[in-house]
Amino acid sequence: SEKRGGFRKPLQFSFSLEYVLEEYGVMHEDIKEILFSAPEIANRIQELGKEITRDYQGRQPLLIGILKGAVPFIADLMRVIDLPVSYDLMAVSSYGASTKSSGTVRILKDLDAALEGRDAIIVEDIVDTGLTLKYLLENLRSRQVNSLKVCTLLDKPSRRKVAIQPDYNGFEIPDKFVVGYGLDYAENYRNLPYIGVLKEAVYQK
Ligand code: 5GP
Repeated sequence: SEKRGGFRKPLQFSFSLEYVLEEYGVMHEDIKEILFSAPEIANRIQELGKEITRDYQGRQPLLIGILKGAVPFIADLMRVIDLPVSYDLMAVSSYGASTKSSGTVRILKDLDAALEGRDAIIVEDIVDTGLTLKYLLENLRSRQVNSLKVCTLLDKPSRRKVAIQPDYNGFEIPDKFVVGYGLDYAENYRNLPYIGVLKEAVYQK
């Protein structure tokens, strides 16, 4: 199997919801369906890492993780990019305890360092309406970046309100509210190792 610069082909597993419920217990009772298991996510991120490594040869990209949802993703992604990367984090206002986007975006925490001359990649958990990303792209483009791209783990193109396409995309998903691997509902479920669909009963309570 392939082994270069820390890249190793991971083992392939598949997990049924029944198995996960039995193994991990009570939090998972709120999940209706698992869309992507932990090993499926790891495999896909490894592919994204290779694409980015190829595209940014000879450069030192700056990953910009969008808090809080993109934390597990950026942590895993940076470790499968075989280049001298650095990262920064930014927080923008989000949904709160609701499953609908308000469309207004505010910066809650800005970047630590200037972007001038950098090759920046925004790392997002999910692109839904695209309104958050539109704001981020406009805001960051005005800071004299050398280049600016977007890498998202999930993409829900059916919900788009603005014409925006991520440059790197982990998985395309249907119009369902998902949680896990950083994604929350009212700050819960971020620690699930997989991405799953929440039971409607949970947010109708
Ligand atoms: P957009 O501005 O593209 O509509 O929304 C982007 C943000 O909405 C994401 O960063 C994420 O916080 C939230 N979001 C959109 N869809 C989902 C979803 O299915 N599940 C969760 N947990 N958050 C979502």
